[in-house]
Amino acid sequence: MYASLSSSFQGTPEGLEAGAIIGKCVHCGFCTATCPTYQLLGDELDGPRGRIYLIKQAMESETCTDITRGHLDRCLTCRSCETTCPSGVAYGRLLEIARPVVEHLAPRPLAQRLQRWLLRRILLGPWFAPLLALGRAVRWALPESLARQVPRKRPAGKPAVQTGPRAVLMLEGCVQPAIAPVINAAAGRVLARLGFRVVPVSGAGCCGALDLHLGASGAALAAMRRNIDAWWPHVEAGIEAIVMTASGCGVTVREYGKLLENDPLYAAKAKRVSGLTQDISQLIEPLAVEGLGREVGLKVAFQSPCTLQHGQKITGIIENILKRAGLTLVPTRDGHLCCGAAGTYSFLEPVLSHQLLANKLENLERDQPDVIATANIGCLAHLESAAGSAVCHWIELLDPDPPRRPNSALG
Ligand code: SF4
Ligand code: SF4
Repeated sequence: MYASLSSSFQGTPEGLEAGAIIGKCVHCGFCTATCPTYQLLGDELDGPRGRIYLIKQAMESETCTDITRGHLDRCLTCRSCETTCPSGVAYGRLLEIARPVVEHLAPRPLAQRLQRWLLRRILLGPWFAPLLALGRAVRWALPESLARQVPRKRPAGKPAVQTGPRAVLMLEGCVQPAIAPVINAAAGRVLARLGFRVVPVSGAGCCGALDLHLGASGAALAAMRRNIDAWWPHVEAGIEAIVMTASGCGVTVREYGKLLENDPLYAAKAKRVSGLTQDISQLIEPLAVEGLGREVGLKVAFQSPCTLQHGQKITGIIENILKRAGLTLVPTRDGHLCCGAAGTYSFLEPVLSHQLLANKLENLERDQPDVIATANIGCLAHLESAAGSAVCHWIELLDPDPPRRPNSALG
């Protein structure tokens, strides 16, 4: 597909990149078959090919309407279309470039701007943890449908004794420490058992994904530079990897190099940081976890987050680790489709999000697993809000010293 972008974009890094991405699309339409929003809505413009065409139109004419913005808003950024595309169209990157453009050409009504501003402030600010604690304290008084939206308490348990020879960093993230401190704590205990030492770092925070997906690219890049500054002394000291326990963060940090390539001060550092970034599953040797599973034979349905399988192209590694650890994996259908969490999508597009969640849970719970395991905090909280089974991060299933959790299948 040839794009003749308007003069404002010609010669700019974003314009050149967008033009090259659009130019790779041959309009074959294979991607529509695996697009969750196209499957639900049946509208070409709510599928990848139609959205690429809308972005091309907006960047050529420098005009767009709120209808175009709506079609892009309904995109989950799940990148299932990228996995399917035979031409290697980097749709996710194209959407990242297009979002601020569309926000500028078709400004949102005040109510929507306020909603997005509030989401960013609450999820990324110091109020998130106290608000969550308040929600948990009054959960008993909330209607069932609302109470289920408040993530359950997941205490961290005992900190690991960190003496291993292999030094790594681990991203804490923004909402994960408040929702489920047990994830990084369990990861620390598993890594300690395998000879790693997690070096504590102060000053790192949100990876920038939340701002990026809400069209606030300036704030997202600032978050990325802050994390690089916090990690850099340890990178120079020779740490082996920067470990991610949330695949949604992992996919973003692995793209720091690309996202900051035009920043003369940070380009080289960002590239190095991205190169060191690994999902925790990539650090774990399957042979080393044999028998480490908390309950041999426990039936596990694994939900592979889109940011893991489509964003980072990591497939099969976690399933293999879990099997080696002695757990029984139940088959799942339509594993390539998004659960509907997709960052803030469940707040902004609740109807589609709930439909995707219902479909996902039907597929995951078909064989009555003891537990649903996932690899991303957003998916975990979203699945837990409606699941009949216990939901956890997969690393918790290998935890050698798990905390007790009352009223939980993982207790
Ligand atoms: S990212 Fe996901 S929802 Fe968006 S167009 Fe691609 S497949 Fe569809
Ligand atoms: S599969 Fe790839 S090349 Fe074909 S229409 Fe979709 S994005 Fe374009």
